[in-house]
Amino acid sequence: MDIFGGIEKLITEHGSAAILKERLLLVADKYAELEKSLVMSQTKAKDAISEKNNFELENIKLRDELRCVNEQLLKIHENPLTSKFGILWDKHGNAQCPKCKTTINRVVWATHINGQVPSLKCSCAIDPIVLMEAGQPIQAPDAMRFMANS
Ligand SMILES: [Zn+2]
Repeated sequence: MDIFGGIEKLITEHGSAAILKERLLLVADKYAELEKSLVMSQTKAKDAISEKNNFELENIKLRDELRCVNEQLLKIHENPLTSKFGILWDKHGNAQCPKCKTTINRVVWATHINGQVPSLKCSCAIDPIVLMEAGQPIQAPDAMRFMANS
């Protein structure tokens, strides 16, 4: 090999090494870009999965609520309530506590303005419920009798 051939070979080798290096850098760049977009895709997939899980939980919760509402509607349908004397009564004439919705049977004396009037007392509340008719207190046993017979 003559000296010029050697130099030319050197230049070619160096030249291709530089190109190779450039290509390698490009490939490395592309690789880093792909890795970055893979991580982004994985993050997006994770977000989508957690969003899906949230929707499923919400769906279960809503179904449960719907079931409760349907049960309440059925109960109301089976046992319609009547509003009278300031409270609700079921179809059998039982007074319903406005707070806890249970039947009240207990009658106690309650003070109304300056008088005493037999009133309903639920175990869930401290104060008795004074039943009213047309702005006047009505004795609870009278109201209960009336509702039981109507
Ligand atoms: Zn109650």
